[in-house]
Amino acid sequence: MAVPRNRTSNARKNSRRSHHAKKAKATSVCTNCGVSKLPHTICDACGAYNNKIVISKAVAE
Ligand SMILES: [Zn+2]
Repeated sequence: MAVPRNRTSNARKNSRRSHHAKKAKATSVCTNCGVSKLPHTICDACGAYNNKIVISKAVAE
């Protein structure tokens, strides 16, 4: 098994990790009710996709 010959410096380690930051999740606005939601998904609040109600949220507990 290969063994590292030299210790990785803090600067080299930190510059390698400069690309590791998490990006904010993309969001879009529901055209039916205006709530922010994940893009390309059915709206959690009203159940609409592409201005059509796909899942009826009228079923109350
Ligand atoms: Zn909606």
